[in-house]
Amino acid sequence: MSLTPDQQAEIDALRSTPSQTLRVVAPGAEKHLYSAVPVLDHGFVRVIDYMGDDAAICQAARVSYGKGTKSVQNDEGLIRYLMRHWHSTPFEMCELKLHVKLPVFVARQWIRHRTANVNEYSARYSILDREFYIPAPENVAAQSVVNNQGRGDTLEGEAAARVLELLKADSTRAYDHYQEMIDESGLGLARELARMNLPANIYTQWYWKVDLHNLFHFLRLRADAHAQYEIRVYAEALCKIVADWVPFAYRAFEDCRLGAVTMSAQMVTCLQRMLKGEAVDEENSGMSKREWREFQGMLGN
Ligand SMILES: Cc1cc2nc3c(=O)[nH]c(=O)nc-3n(C[C@H](O)[C@H](O)[C@H](O)COP(=O)(O)OP(=O)(O)OC[C@H]3O[C@@H](n4cnc5c(N)ncnc54)[C@H](O)[C@@H]3O)c2cc1C
Repeated sequence: MSLTPDQQAEIDALRSTPSQTLRVVAPGAEKHLYSAVPVLDHGFVRVIDYMGDDAAICQAARVSYGKGTKSVQNDEGLIRYLMRHWHSTPFEMCELKLHVKLPVFVARQWIRHRTANVNEYSARYSILDREFYIPAPENVAAQSVVNNQGRGDTLEGEAAARVLELLKADSTRAYDHYQEMIDESGLGLARELARMNLPANIYTQWYWKVDLHNLFHFLRLRADAHAQYEIRVYAEALCKIVADWVPFAYRAFEDCRLGAVTMSAQMVTCLQRMLKGEAVDEENSGMSKREWREFQGMLGN
């Protein structure tokens, strides 16, 4: 990750000037405030601000005058109950504001999550940095043969080396041409036009603010094994931050969403037949091949 000395100094200055407040302070979030957690080769996530903590979720659920806290067990139990029963609005009372630096092709996936507030670095106004995502060799993988939307085995030897060579050469060439086009003493092309020549592995940055309910929805989809590795690593970094910020809510999310499975009514019927001792197979399950495979996965087979 590349933070310049100036950027690091700005972060250090912010972290060295605490101010007094009557607002709720979550110690687990405070420790992350402003610091950059590295992700991929040049990316990061930084907590810029937050609102609320576990007690704020209970406070909203109980529509309380005070802190909303009864006892630690009571609070954790209530949060688990809310999560299990999809009672989502108390989780919307907590918010997180992040600064994220990410490759453009990851940003395209991320921006599909519409229930957040975003402000992106302007490549019309500013010049983009010469920073491109080049995967680590272990992440250079072949097209999957079982899943059209995924990758299979890692490419080895000459094939991997050639891919990396092409990625590096094309990124360098595209950026050289970008610079040549925007050079004010040369071609002088507008930045808003010159940027169209840049590849999708260039880095962009944005501020992203989201409430906890929608953040959990994002993490459920993007920290999942089906998500592309390059966005999953951002989601995993966020999971660690959220676990520190709202430990009860995160534990409930981990148990009731991240590690949970959703069965169709047909699957539940098959499971009930199995528990009664009936031999249920793909043929007599009434499920499609794919659903049967997913069902077997849920059963750990
Ligand atoms: C593994 C994976 C593969 C994917 N593949 C593709 C793909 O091939 N092509 C593709 O285009 N996308 C793809 N997506 C993106 C996916 O379809 C969703 O757009 C994305 O995950 C955002 O989810 P969301 O809409 O639930 O989230 P958000 O936009 O944050 O919305 C959260 C919830 O709010 C509600 N909501 C928000 N806005 C509206 C609205 N305007 N109208 C009604 N309800 C709304 C919905 O209930 C929604 O679930 C993929 C996502 C994943 C995780």
